[in-house]
Amino acid sequence: MVATKTIESKEILEELLDTEKLKYCFECGICTSCCPVAELLGKDYNPRQLLEKTILDPEGTMVSNEIWFCAWCYSCHRHCPQALKLPEIFLRMRAKAVEYQQHGEPLNSALRKIVQNIPLPLIATAACFHPERANLEKKKILEKMEELYLEHLKQKKMERAQQVSEGKVAVIGSGPAGLTVAYELSMKGYGVTVFETLPYAGGMLRKCLPESRLPKEILEKEIGIIKDLGVEIKTAVTIGKDVNFSDLWRYGYKAIFVGVGAHKSQHLKIEGADLQGVVHALDFLWNINLGGNTDVGKKVVVIGGGNVAVDAAKTALCKGANEAAILYRRSKEEMPAIPWEIKEAEEAGVKIELLTAPKRILGENGRVKAIECIRMRLDEPDESGRRKPIPIEGSEFAVETDMVIFATGETPDLGFLPSQVELNEDGTIWVNPLTMETSLQGVFAGGDVVTGPATVIEAIRAGKCAARSIDSYLRLSGRET
Ligand SMILES: Cc1cc2nc3c(=O)[nH]c(=O)nc-3n(C[C@H](O)[C@H](O)[C@H](O)COP(=O)(O)OP(=O)(O)OC[C@H]3O[C@@H](n4cnc5c(N)ncnc54)[C@H](O)[C@@H]3O)c2cc1C
Ligand code: SF4
Ligand code: SF4
Repeated sequence: MVATKTIESKEILEELLDTEKLKYCFECGICTSCCPVAELLGKDYNPRQLLEKTILDPEGTMVSNEIWFCAWCYSCHRHCPQALKLPEIFLRMRAKAVEYQQHGEPLNSALRKIVQNIPLPLIATAACFHPERANLEKKKILEKMEELYLEHLKQKKMERAQQVSEGKVAVIGSGPAGLTVAYELSMKGYGVTVFETLPYAGGMLRKCLPESRLPKEILEKEIGIIKDLGVEIKTAVTIGKDVNFSDLWRYGYKAIFVGVGAHKSQHLKIEGADLQGVVHALDFLWNINLGGNTDVGKKVVVIGGGNVAVDAAKTALCKGANEAAILYRRSKEEMPAIPWEIKEAEEAGVKIELLTAPKRILGENGRVKAIECIRMRLDEPDESGRRKPIPIEGSEFAVETDMVIFATGETPDLGFLPSQVELNEDGTIWVNPLTMETSLQGVFAGGDVVTGPATVIEAIRAGKCAARSIDSYLRLSGRET
């Protein structure tokens, strides 16, 4: 038998209190109300209470299943009036539980709750819960999860046979939001067709997530399970090109879910942006994920401060670049990328040039050769609430580079929607936040197309909420047959 270490609660608390401003928590509960996992798990997870328990009873917290539920979306951090980093505190507790060998049954119990309440549990475990960050072997956890999932599916399929409904639902987009809607509604007995413009299902999970984070085999398994439930996935079909949106009603679909994500790269209009060697991050990552021959420069410069910029820089290093630097015009505090991802990228060798913006790209014989940058300073907060970057005149400098990757934001491409579907000012779809219904009756939306670029767990939450509303809508309007 393996001897367990004695738990030193004082040591844990000191470490947590030292690094975090826990005593400044207002106990306002915003973290819980904006947490997608709290919504998916109901009373089983409450980050605000978990934070309190962590302070009052670290040993008890360590052996509870709750510390295994945080999915690293940082929604609580973004909304917390004190900007407390709850996920980092919970990660420390996870790592401590592993160190003190207290994770066995609490973790198994957490995995069971995840399969019972969170759709796409294999994807969620690999891409959101990150067992490896607490020093666990991801492969083993995924194997355990699969075993629990298959048991759960067997049980659910038996219940499902008793309530088959004829109502047909169209889902546009096969990312985690669309797949969740398809899974949930098909479990309720509805016929579901998913339309996907790409030749493969999976959305960003397929297009951009690196293999190390989400093994393709896991994605395939999850998609296979959904197809086995009877969901039809029509790939290489673009709504708005191959099929008109309004024709979906004619084909007999009684409700439509729009989960098309945010795939339109925003262009930086600077001189030299059309030179050879200048690419958009999503195209770059997609080519790498397709396994094609992508030329990766030796000195790569990535422009942007979000998760996409961080992934593009890390991927460039993995694929042969000698150097990869991120240029971001604000400070690290303002970087939209998840702090943990930034830390990992820096550890992997990515250099982050803060308060720096590109001015123009310089070329030679049509190819990128250098990038001229300018230093910035931060002024008062702008309409986004973040401090406005102002160029410092005369601070220009040039950096040699043979590849520039733009990761300057993505927006949804919604030209195919009828005008009755109202959009927000930033180009995302407006929805009723309680039902995920759009301003057009019978049309629901969720995931990145509503929130703008976010995370897998938030897309799963939106998909589950939308599926519940679609079910109610079809029942109440008598459209389920
Ligand atoms: C590089 C990168 C790394 C990321 N890493 C992580 C991570 O580690 N963890 C995490 O939680 N999140 C991560 N994310 C974010 C996450 O992938 C997204 O938040 C999530 O995939 C959004 O899901 P979705 O279903 O809303 O949309 P998407 O996954 O974008 O899926 C939308 C689908 O709709 C399809 N579509 C679009 N238009 C049409 C049309 N007209 N007709 C038919 N189909 C259409 C698209 O091709 C796509 O397949 C990452 C994102 C990127 C870009
Ligand atoms: S949102 Fe922040 S301040 Fe409010 S309860 Fe949560 S951690 Fe405390
Ligand atoms: S990081 Fe996300 S999942 Fe974790 S507690 Fe915060 S809101 Fe919830």
